[in-house]
Formats: sequence, C-alpha cells, structure tokens
Amino acid sequence: DTLERKLTVFLTITTTHRPATDLGFLLHKNPERVHEFKLSFGKAHVFYPEASDARCTAALLLDVDPVALVRGQGRGQSGDGLLSQYVNDRPYAASSFLSVAISRVFGSALGGRSKDRPELALRELPLAVRLTPVPCRGGEAVLRSLFEPLGYQVAAEGHPLDEAFPDWGESRYFTVELETSQSLANLLAHLYVLVPVLDSDKHYWVGDEEVDKLLRRGEGWLAAHPEKEMIARRYLKFQKRLTREALARLADEDEPDPETTRTRHGEAEQVLEKPLRLNDRRMTAVVEALQASGAKRVIDLGCGEGRLLRKLLRHKQFQEILGIDASVRALELAAARLRLDRLAPRQRARVRLLHGALTYRDKRLEGHDAVAVVEVIEHLDLARLAAFERALFEFARPGVVVVTTPNREYNVKFENLPAGNLRHRDHRFEWTRAEFRDWADRTAGAHGYQVETQGIGEEDPELGTPTQMGIFERCA
Ligand code: SAH
Repeated sequence: DTLERKLTVFLTITTTHRPATDLGFLLHKNPERVHEFKLSFGKAHVFYPEASDARCTAALLLDVDPVALVRGQGRGQSGDGLLSQYVNDRPYAASSFLSVAISRVFGSALGGRSKDRPELALRELPLAVRLTPVPCRGGEAVLRSLFEPLGYQVAAEGHPLDEAFPDWGESRYFTVELETSQSLANLLAHLYVLVPVLDSDKHYWVGDEEVDKLLRRGEGWLAAHPEKEMIARRYLKFQKRLTREALARLADEDEPDPETTRTRHGEAEQVLEKPLRLNDRRMTAVVEALQASGAKRVIDLGCGEGRLLRKLLRHKQFQEILGIDASVRALELAAARLRLDRLAPRQRARVRLLHGALTYRDKRLEGHDAVAVVEVIEHLDLARLAAFERALFEFARPGVVVVTTPNREYNVKFENLPAGNLRHRDHRFEWTRAEFRDWADRTAGAHGYQVETQGIGEEDPELGTPTQMGIFERCA
C-alpha cells in the first residue's frame, strides 16, 4: 500500500493584482490549459482553479512516484538501508521535491524574468500561498521564524498524526498559508530555499554545488535573515564544512536593501528638503526629545550615515549609543562620518555600529532606555511594519521610542515634486497627519505605551509641518 500511494503535494499561488490573470504571463503558463511536466521523481501538473480579472490562482501539483524515486537513487547514498528507502514519508511531503519542481516548472519566474510582462516580474504584488502538506521540524515556531522576517503573514494548521486517531496528537505536518506583498521572484526563491529547510531532510545528495544554489537563491535576503545560520545548516543537511563556507560567503554578500537607488534618489530628497533646513531641525527635535526622556543608553535604528549619531555623541548624557542599519554601506559611511578610528578611547567606547534589520526580533536591542527611528518606517513595506512594531515595542521594549516620518499633506508645497509623488523613490508610503496619528495610537495601545505626536519644521496652517514625530512612552 505504501508503494502504491502517490503523493499529493499542493502549492497554490493566488494574486489579486489586476488583471490577476497576468499571473499566467509571470509563470509562463497559460491559465486556460493544464500543463504537465515529467520530473525524475514523478510528474508535476500546473493548472488554474480560478482565473478572473480580480483573482487568479495557479496550482502546482506534484505527483511523486516512490518507485521511480528509489530506482533513481543509486546505491549507498541514503545510508540507512534499503528499508528506509521504501518506508519513509518522502513521497508524501512537500520537501525538496517542491524546490526541484519550482526551478524546473517556474524557472523564469524564479529568475525574475517574464517575456510578456517584464515590468511585473520584479514588482511587488499581493500574493497568497497555500502549501500542503509541509513537514516542519520544530513546528510552527520554526515556520514563523523563517517566513515572518521576510514579510509574510503566516497561518499554519497542524495535521493530526492519524485522522482516525485524534488522540495520537499532532504530526509534524502542516497546511501553511502565507500572505505577502512582494515580487513573485522573491516569493519563489523563499519557497525554494525554506521549504527544504523546514523539512531539513533532503532527498538528494548534498554537495558543494548546493552551497552555490543556496547563495544564488538566497541572494538579497539570506544575508540579513536572523535565522541564516539555521537555514544554512539545515539546507546543507548539517554538513559543517559546507555550512561554514556558506555562512562565510554570506557575510561577504552585500546588503539586500535598496541602497544603490537610495544614494542617488536619497540626494533628491535632501535637495527637496534643503531650503527648509529640515534635516537639522529634525535631528535637533529628536535629540531634544531623547534628552528630555533622561535616556542614557540609546539606539538609533536605521541610523543611515550617522547624522543623528554624531549629534548624540556631543551630549554626555548619552553614555551608550548604538547605531543599527540594514545597509553595510550606510554603516561604513557612518563610521567615516563619526571618524571612529580617530576618536579618543573614552568617546570611542560610547558608540557602536551594528548590522541588523529592524523587522527582526533582536536581542541586541533589549535593555536600552530609548530608541530613535528617524525617517525609516516609510522605507518598510506595510506588510513588514507589523513585524517592526513587534520587534521594537513588544520585544526590545525601551522606555521611550521616537519615530519621525514625512507628512504627505505637505508634499504639495514642494515645487519640484510632481503631484502625487512621494519624496523618495524608495518610500513605500507617506502618511497624512491623521494616518500617522492613527498608527501611533494603535501601536501604543497595543503594546502598553502612551504616545504624543507633534510636527517638525515650518508649519502651514492647512497642511501642517513637513515632518511629523511621535514620542512613545512605556506605561509603568
Ligand atoms: N535615520 C537616518 C537614515 C534614514 S534613511 C537619517 O535620518 O539620516 C532610512 C535608513 O533605514 C537607511 O539607512 C536604510 O538602510 C535603513 N533601513 C531600511 N529598512 C531597514 C530595515 N528593515 N532594517 C534596518 N534598517 C533599515
């Protein structure tokens, strides 16, 4: 019976981007047809359970043939005898077969290419994934720790060990649902790497070329992932040498952020705001808020090139100053701006720069009095903002948080800014005063903080000030 039973691994990808049927162009698979592919371990089918303008779902069904699998496996690789080759759960789980199928069946989409919709291939789209069954070693917590830092909303439902005997408890299989807003290429790369990581038991031999695959598919996101060590370890099947090599190469990889565009377009933002001396006024307002809070140990989250850090260093009150940014390049510029190598030892000991992302829970953030987040949140996808809120207000939980962000209403006053544009190419959103107030109230309320919002810069009676600031104080 075991041998007869074919698998059903099911992956569906849904978008509500309009027209949703563009998904067919992105996947290079016509929604009106059923597509079949032969793979070494069985068959893959692609079809579309729904395909309308408003909503389109592509389904990938994997038919793993346990006999073909064993036949193709050769000798001596499984290591635990013939029996385990037959009697195991391999055919029934969405493990590394899915990665193989993704790269074979959706190869161009994975590579970010689309003949007919090139502009869409790398664009952020609303996407939802359903995957079942997913074996997950370490359970739901591991699942979340892998996907949430990448901006996914994760829902998981455990499967009982045996439907007929619910008392036996849960198995390690889940039906997983992920929701996100990002490019299809990213999403496929995440699945390609992380599904086998969840399973942590690959069906094929792991060799040096797997390191290359991991790094290629992990490009742009793995280096900054807080679980990168677990990912490398499990992906490379716990082979220490390969894992060390992968991690060493990851450490060299440049950062996944839009820094390249930022340097160019960031200048545009500065030029726009320059006549207002807005940057100075912003930094001064933040420093004053931090001073008033009595904070001694402070963090500048998303410190960029270190403009605030430099101001903070001038005030003895701030005994420990920590700058964190996701961009290695920005940190290098900050080190140069602060002349870290030339500071007197006592000064030098007060300031530290760290590479990290503010959407991850990070122990290094804990135990500080105050955190400044200056002109950073608007660079986060709305989907990641929730992760940021938790990382900061729930886990780091400093006494005071100071957040600044543009006031969108003011944009009409910038003559050089075309109507409707945001101030910076990399801004994901800019909020009106009411929107900011709403977010601030909601976030404070959810985490036991009180918040006060105020403006920074020249005030227009109707439009308010160019920048807005929220000062959050932890209640008791
Ligand atoms: N606070 C600085 C820089 C603002 S620009 C200033 O006011 O001058 C936004 C900065 O946020 C960039 O340096 C960018 O690298 C950083 N950033 C964007 N997303 C981030 C993330 N998820 N984690 C950490 N830093 C991030």
